[in-house]
Amino acid sequence: MKLLRFGPAGQEKPGLLDDKGVIRDLTGHVGDITGDVLGDEALARIAAIDPATLPEVDPATRLGPCVGSIGKLLCIGLNYSDHAAESGLPIPDHPILFMKANSAIVGPNDDVEIPRGSTKTDWEVELGVVIGTRAKYVEKADALSHVAGYCVVNDVSERHFQTQLTGQWTKGKSCDTFGPVGPWMVTRDEVPNPQALDLWLDVNGTRRQTGTTAKMIFDVAAIIEHLSQLMTLHPGDVISTGTPPGVGMGIKPEPVYLKEGDVMELGIAGLGAQKQTVVQG
Ligand code: ZN
Repeated sequence: MKLLRFGPAGQEKPGLLDDKGVIRDLTGHVGDITGDVLGDEALARIAAIDPATLPEVDPATRLGPCVGSIGKLLCIGLNYSDHAAESGLPIPDHPILFMKANSAIVGPNDDVEIPRGSTKTDWEVELGVVIGTRAKYVEKADALSHVAGYCVVNDVSERHFQTQLTGQWTKGKSCDTFGPVGPWMVTRDEVPNPQALDLWLDVNGTRRQTGTTAKMIFDVAAIIEHLSQLMTLHPGDVISTGTPPGVGMGIKPEPVYLKEGDVMELGIAGLGAQKQTVVQG
């Protein structure tokens, strides 16, 4: 099942994508796609609805972030062995964690703003993991049972803010619009192996990132186990699990960063695609 949210920013309604690719309106069955409908029982109730009985939605309608009221957006850094090599950084002993401010979250096809003063705004296609049930002190063998589903995240990053502004990575990760999430959340029953997904990202039609989640240093289950020792993961929290090689910072001989008018297109096999136009903030 593919769950999504559609409509103007801040007024999104719940929906799903049926198996013909038609958006259907779930209003009347659930209030929104948020943590309270992401547990196994609630998802089963939605799955029991015949999509043909739901109103069709105009395919041109804007999509919002596929999960509303995201509590925490947790991000893992340097989690692909081939991206760590590209960055010239050692493989970490434990998952590197940083936070992205919730105010950065936008829809999958919304404009991405280059913040004022930025010279190094960059892209990162990532697998997003949506938590469905409360997870505290979880063991790896049980970890994936806490997942509601998976989605695409663009972990947009300002490299100067990230590394030179005398702070933590959070500064370069939290700018407005730096967190496109969606187009939809694919429930975990349709993603039997989250470590076998191909990822890609194009800028202006040029392929920049090509990767597979098979190259993760810490797999999804290990990440959930680790994070749940440190804090409770709540339904509706999202974990962005790191990016494969091909970010602008790593391009030789000179890095390439985003400029006004650029178009990013990115996706993950089976999870859909995003498309953002870059604008000046
Ligand atoms: Zn990232």
